[in-house]
Amino acid sequence: MMILADIITLWNNSWPAGLTMFALAVAFSIILLVADKKLKVAVDPKIESIYQALPRIDCGTCGYAGCSSYAKAVAADPTLLGKCSPGGAGASQKIAEILNLKISSGGALKRPVIHCHSTKDNKTYFGNYAGIQSCTSANAIANVQACKFGCLGFGDCKAACKFNAIQMVNGLSTIDYNKCTGCGACVKACPRGIIEMVPFTQNKIMTVACRSQETGKDTKAFCKVGCIGCKLCTKQTDAFTVNNNLAKLDYARYEPSEQFKTAMEKCPTGVIVYRGKE
Ligand code: SF4
Ligand code: SF4
Repeated sequence: MMILADIITLWNNSWPAGLTMFALAVAFSIILLVADKKLKVAVDPKIESIYQALPRIDCGTCGYAGCSSYAKAVAADPTLLGKCSPGGAGASQKIAEILNLKISSGGALKRPVIHCHSTKDNKTYFGNYAGIQSCTSANAIANVQACKFGCLGFGDCKAACKFNAIQMVNGLSTIDYNKCTGCGACVKACPRGIIEMVPFTQNKIMTVACRSQETGKDTKAFCKVGCIGCKLCTKQTDAFTVNNNLAKLDYARYEPSEQFKTAMEKCPTGVIVYRGKE
């Protein structure tokens, strides 16, 4: 009897508190439901589809803070189409379809090319550089190496690459095109402007791997593999031109053909090389 009395007393004391808690729970649930309906930000399915079509690596090549910002921007302004270098033509095509736009076919992917071919063994040094081991620091000091156009080899580009696509091989920056996404961070990092984003019309393209504008005589004195501006390549195809003692290739015109192969073979310093996937 005592136990039953205790239970009745406990019930009489606790049910008002329980009821209050229950009422509060119901009230909060209703408030949350109303807030969810009122404050919900509608996600535009078009923007979400564009976002899904992008590589979603937030590299910033497009000029926006990340893929989601670029998705919003290109949905609002389709003239921004084609700014995603890692996504390339494939992503642009998908986005164009989402936005009901027609774009021309083609559109070669841009990938970085190192315009230097000179390893430590081929360079001339005036002395030992003992300063901060970075290209930007070394570049601020005259005569770190004889050629003031060539790769400094401290790897600022390697440090900038989020995709581990750059290695330093015997003092020369070298790109693994199987890992490279074409984000362009290496281009911004190189204080010598050696790296250029180039349209890869083929998996493997040809390039003049030099930036030296010294006279042929000086380039020869400073580097075993620099361009001496002899113009032999221009005699094979006018896709090569020589200005300021430096040969350049019009990449858009490159095709694997006998003319280009002969230009490469006739180059006396071997500075015309292939870059890209093997
Ligand atoms: S090498 Fe690296 S930093 Fe340069 S474009 Fe490719 S992924 Fe980007
Ligand atoms: S390519 Fe430019 S950034 Fe990279 S190691 Fe050479 S000088 Fe430095």
